[in-house]
Amino acid sequence: MDFSLELELAVEAARPMLATGRVADYIPALGAADPNAFGLALATVDGEVYGAGDWQTPFSIQSISKLFALALTLATGDAIWHRVGREPSGTPFNSLVQLESEHGIPRNPFINAGAIVVTDRLLSLTGNAGAAIREFLRDESGNPHLDTDHLVAASEAEHGHRNAALTHFIASYGNLENPVESVLQHYYEHCAIAASCRDLALAGLFLARHGVRADGSRLLSASDAKRVNAVLLTCGTYDAAGDFAYRVGLPGKSGVGGGILAVVPGRGTLCAWGPALDRAGNSVGSVAALEAFTTATGWSVF
Ligand code: GLN
Repeated sequence: MDFSLELELAVEAARPMLATGRVADYIPALGAADPNAFGLALATVDGEVYGAGDWQTPFSIQSISKLFALALTLATGDAIWHRVGREPSGTPFNSLVQLESEHGIPRNPFINAGAIVVTDRLLSLTGNAGAAIREFLRDESGNPHLDTDHLVAASEAEHGHRNAALTHFIASYGNLENPVESVLQHYYEHCAIAASCRDLALAGLFLARHGVRADGSRLLSASDAKRVNAVLLTCGTYDAAGDFAYRVGLPGKSGVGGGILAVVPGRGTLCAWGPALDRAGNSVGSVAALEAFTTATGWSVF
């Protein structure tokens, strides 16, 4: 298959969609992103990397970091599942409503509440959750310059009333091990990492390799890699996870920076980026490009 051509075609298919979305501005530092930027990368399990458009431009990975937080936590055992569920929420990523009826146990690790609990655990395990995720991304992508954008982290902290409310609420149920302020700081630090489609496609490859990292060592058992992919499929794009599965047919994780990292188990990873978002907070261009690519190539789990 001519992957470079297929990626170009998918990017062209997505371009008309860009004007239908809006750049996230509830984190002011993200509001300056170019709504017409667009890139798509493919990394295969045998080490090939292909790209089209702005696939080498760094962007704010935001909630894509939640998948790495979960994987690094699960690498040490599965106790985290006592503190966070794995059911789709059907509510927006930053919603508070289910936390009360579910007694401080977030519905899944990919909504903000769940990722905050996972970050808390990773902070206890490593002493520095932000750095642990950054190091992992550097190692897997081979890009030593990959870093947190501290302006984005500070902007989010300044305007993060909702995440602060979620974290205090979780703490009130006894589901937090560290002080609220440190958990939030590490959560913002990993969300504010800047990376390109190329970097993220490479960093996600362990999920396509059934748990095996770039250096051949194992991060997750094959079963845990399967489980993470399953939760990505059902919860990775929030209350649009059903539509994403229908259109794209792959496990995937979106972020409000406009990126989506998708996994084709046994074959490779795709990462798309375009800052204009739909109402669920998923990139309109990224969903369209992934849909076009999987439809044309048959690279889907279904
Ligand atoms: N850091 C963002 C937030 O907490 C992540 C949200 C997202 O990417 N969906 O609001």
